Amino acid sequence: MIANIKKKTKSLSHFIWLTLLVIITIFVTYFFENNKKSQKQYLKKTLENVYFQKTITKITSELESRYIEYDYIVKIGDTYESIINDVNISKNEKKIFLQTIKKNKKIKILKPNQKIYFKIDLKDYPKILKFNIEVNKKEEIFFVRDFKAEGFKSKIVKKNLTKVITYKESKITNSLYQSAIDLKIKPNIIIEFARLYGFQVDFQRDIWKNDSFQIIYEEFLNKDKEIIETGNIIFANLNLQNEDLKLYRYEYDKNKIDYFDENGKSMRKTLMKTPINGARLSSSFGKRKHPILGFTKMHTGTDFAAPTGTPILASGDGIVTRAQWCGGGGNCVKIKHNRVYQTIYAHMSKFGKGIKKGARVKQGQVIGYVGSTGLSTGPHLHYEVVENGRKINSQKLKLPSGKILKGAERKIFEVNRIKIDVLKSDLISKM
Ligand SMILES: [Zn+2]
Repeated sequence: MIANIKKKTKSLSHFIWLTLLVIITIFVTYFFENNKKSQKQYLKKTLENVYFQKTITKITSELESRYIEYDYIVKIGDTYESIINDVNISKNEKKIFLQTIKKNKKIKILKPNQKIYFKIDLKDYPKILKFNIEVNKKEEIFFVRDFKAEGFKSKIVKKNLTKVITYKESKITNSLYQSAIDLKIKPNIIIEFARLYGFQVDFQRDIWKNDSFQIIYEEFLNKDKEIIETGNIIFANLNLQNEDLKLYRYEYDKNKIDYFDENGKSMRKTLMKTPINGARLSSSFGKRKHPILGFTKMHTGTDFAAPTGTPILASGDGIVTRAQWCGGGGNCVKIKHNRVYQTIYAHMSKFGKGIKKGARVKQGQVIGYVGSTGLSTGPHLHYEVVENGRKINSQKLKLPSGKILKGAERKIFEVNRIKIDVLKSDLISKM
């Protein structure tokens, strides 16, 4: 609106100047020629001047501007009704506008800072000729008046945005969220990052000071290089106590996308039902007569009979929360996998290399060896799964199946992984 007024003022000043010029010319002519005839002739000549005539036409048409154009920025609490009520148009015009909005599901909900553009035609009576509404930062809907249909024709227009690949890295000083915000990483990317690691990291407890992260993701910029939208995370790494937890984005099938570690294992980690190779299930979960104590007791785990020294594997990625003597269980290991799941391994003859409280383990890593320590009648592994603090039957465990890429699939993934690693080095070198 202000721009419009300015334009009008400018046109008006042009008009005044031209008028003054004509008056001065007449005046000067009068005094110097002192001849009425020549005065008239001069004036006639001036008025006949094509350029002068054109200028006059232009100025007068601009003065009586037929159109009003403006952008409305949506404020909190605005409704389409409140917005249109402030526009000086007839009741019927407002009705047509509101009916058009109602028909379009994409724009039903108004969001603060959303932009609405109006073009109003003042000829005969004020009417909306055009209006545009931002759907999101990538899309806009254009509405053009259709007088025959007593409504508007609409067209979705994609905004001209450029995709850029961004690399960010940082030490985690206070919290992952704060460190990421300090790097100007958009909140939705941080949330996605945390979600990717949700299967293996407890963000409230597992993050230590000076742990770090790296991330590669897509950003969409407008012509003014402003970040309008964010896209996918392509690569993520969380370095916890000097150990990397890398995740690579990979489309393993058409439209089937997942994140995999460098070994081709999906981030959707499942727990192993049998964390031991070549063992026989000797006693299942449930009520049973205890072989040593002699009375009926709930067996809160699953037993696998195997020769002493058979390697026992970590059922899933996680942190060792216990690796010590624990009475009846003998030498036992407890692993916390995430906020929900923990696993326990008992009666070990000895612990695996480097297995101690606080150690981070990967799924399938050897954490100990079968033995018969504690209350045990023979070499076996007693395996327990704890879900939200409750012991459950590991053999009935239902977790999202963690895909492991194999064969040809794995080879394609490897190529993709190398490409991402090259991209990462490239982005780091440009920092
Ligand atoms: Zn047992």
